[in-house]
Amino acid sequence: MKKCDVAIAGGGVIGGSIAFELARAGLRVSVFDRQKPGQEASWASAGIISPAPENPRMIATVELAKRSAALYPEFVALVEEISGQSTGFRRKGTLEALFSHTKVELSTIIALHHGLGLKAEPLRAEDAREVEPALSDEVEAAVLRPDEASIDNRALTSAVLEAAQRSGAEIFPGSGVKAIWREGARCRGLALQNEKVEAKWTIIAAGCFSGMIEGISAYAPVRPAKGQMAALRADELKMERVLWSEKVYLVPRNDGRILAGATVEYVGFDKRVTAGGIEKILAAAIELAPGLKDARIEETWAGLRPDSADHLPILGPTDLEGLLMATGHFRSGILLTPITARLIREWVTELKVSLDWDRFSPLRFYALTVDNQYCR
Ligand SMILES: Cc1cc2nc3c(=O)[nH]c(=O)nc-3n(C[C@H](O)[C@H](O)[C@H](O)COP(=O)(O)OP(=O)(O)OC[C@H]3O[C@@H](n4cnc5c(N)ncnc54)[C@H](O)[C@@H]3O)c2cc1C
Repeated sequence: MKKCDVAIAGGGVIGGSIAFELARAGLRVSVFDRQKPGQEASWASAGIISPAPENPRMIATVELAKRSAALYPEFVALVEEISGQSTGFRRKGTLEALFSHTKVELSTIIALHHGLGLKAEPLRAEDAREVEPALSDEVEAAVLRPDEASIDNRALTSAVLEAAQRSGAEIFPGSGVKAIWREGARCRGLALQNEKVEAKWTIIAAGCFSGMIEGISAYAPVRPAKGQMAALRADELKMERVLWSEKVYLVPRNDGRILAGATVEYVGFDKRVTAGGIEKILAAAIELAPGLKDARIEETWAGLRPDSADHLPILGPTDLEGLLMATGHFRSGILLTPITARLIREWVTELKVSLDWDRFSPLRFYALTVDNQYCR
């Protein structure tokens, strides 16, 4: 039987960054992943760091997202220093383009952002094209969010896992977690295939697979939301910032690739790339930046975001002593990485957190499950 202070199920960017923070706080941390860590959503992502809500439902996460975005520069600097790896962090802002068919007015977008304390500047079409010459002539106006950023999520995840190990965390690939090890009202650790792991704290960070771990579905009823992506290369096209339209985003990387994404599909645990999915992304990408029509397609892929019933993250303690959830980050897991790791570390080391996270409690679903049982 293995023994540690903290046992983490899942070695994506979330499990890895929690391990990093807790190992740096002096705890003995073990991370268990059923495969090579960092190969699921954290690998498939686009890596946009934007606290702006994509729709009214996401307004509930804005404070969390703003805190996380503010932590990013310091977090990245530390991860890069300790891992010795670069993460492709780009603080160049993002630009949202509006077409005649865009459903929301420019003034509404600006007012919404300012109301939420987010920096956003309206741009006339010609000014937007001066800032980003790749934009289509059909673009009628734009919103510049100068503080937003992006990161190479594959590089970040690899660096976070390396930094966690160099800080003392142990990572066990090929170690699938079957169940939590429950004794009465306490979680004593994790049950692997042929072994138990005893820990004072058990943290579930297995992305969209979290609910498949025995004993977890009531706290983290997550489901996969598939996203397809394409990486393009157009050497003559200049693009500095993340560009958005209502239909697509384009994310320039330091290596010259431009990522285009992404679909949101509820098709179970299916990661196939489809002609229809890629067609939709490419058509919207070319509408936004017509020069991309001659771009080379270098790679296509799909990944599974961990989505919850209300699309909000699932963070914090449960009613089992020692058991914490850190999942359900849906479309914002890269953005929310530093704050997730910080809050979990605060709870584990001080039993209090510096931001009100009740809205994201795993018990919000648990209460529903119990009520439903009584109703039946
Ligand atoms: C196409 C796409 C685009 C995205 N774009 C963005 C973006 O621009 N910005 C942003 O902030 N977010 C984005 N996201 C979301 C973000 O990538 C995710 O929210 C985040 O990566 C979730 O990280 P995670 O560590 O919780 O999950 P994952 O990265 O999925 O990691 C879960 C880990 O748990 C392991 N695991 C599963 N089951 C078990 C088990 N039983 N035992 C042990 N280990 C197990 C898996 O092997 C995996 O390594 C995007 C996601 C996708 C798919």
